[in-house]
Amino acid sequence: MKPAQFAVFGHPIAHSLSPQIHQAFARQFGIELEYRAIDAAPAEFVAAVRRFFAEDGLGANVTLPHKATAFALADQRSTAAMRAGSANVLTRLADGRLAAHNTDGAGMVRDLTERHSVDLRGHDALLLGAGGAAHGVVWSLLDAGVETLTIVNRSAAAADALADAIGEPARVHTRYWQDLAEIGSFDLIVNATSAGVLGASLQLPFSLAGARALCYDLSYGTAAGGFLAWAKTAGARFAFDGLGMLVETAADAFELWHGKRPDTEPVYQSLRVQC
Ligand code: NDP
Repeated sequence: MKPAQFAVFGHPIAHSLSPQIHQAFARQFGIELEYRAIDAAPAEFVAAVRRFFAEDGLGANVTLPHKATAFALADQRSTAAMRAGSANVLTRLADGRLAAHNTDGAGMVRDLTERHSVDLRGHDALLLGAGGAAHGVVWSLLDAGVETLTIVNRSAAAADALADAIGEPARVHTRYWQDLAEIGSFDLIVNATSAGVLGASLQLPFSLAGARALCYDLSYGTAAGGFLAWAKTAGARFAFDGLGMLVETAADAFELWHGKRPDTEPVYQSLRVQC
């Protein structure tokens, strides 16, 4: 019998660690599954997803640049997906319809609070970026108790739109990227830009990082190198990349599909050696 079928869709996708992560989780429970990385250009994505689920696919992860389209094509959407306006998990329901979920925010906060033992309550947070991943994490940061959230994006309109969507003007503010040197310091600085993966370096003033600052880059591996080096030079107390977030978001998808909670730590540790 063919093993249960899972996949990650992206463009490009060859670099994805998701197949490795899901196979490692499956081994913890003796589950046999096939998990493929499917490269689909934007114009082909919807047809490729429909084909995958029509051919017995049970669940799919979705990454750049397809998360908004994945959200739009689904028949059902979780609260986290609705808040983010995007989905990184698609699940085939018993009646064949597709459910969309977004695990980015929960995964990031669990990485911070459980793996790195950080209590986010009371933090003044700075979020750099207002793209898909930023939309995915803001609600979870607020739910985790950050005191204030300042959103700064290269294109100011996207930061304003995100702040408007959140609708908590007493806690959530936006500032201009060109004013970064004048906006003071923060306890938590989250880099949710794709500058690192695009090979661009962010020119950030050291004044952003207070003495207690925790700096977190959603990207990992070499893409996070520039921001983490900046954080250390700025004197930040902690500088973490998004590898733990990746593993935690995968664990949420795995639990959704298999009803079992994997142990993320051994998988994280084995990937840490590679990244
Ligand atoms: P999007 O393309 O949706 O958004 C990109 C964001 O980065 C925008 O805010 C964009 O600003 C900004 N940006 C791009 N280049 C620059 C630059 N040179 N200087 C300043 N800002 C820049 O991408 P995502 O939000 O989906 O992904 C962002 C990052 O998060 C990626 O590195 C991705 O790999 C990572 N990620 C990690 C996950 C994990 O599990 N660890 C999960 C999801 C994402 P503008 O609006 O002005 O273009």
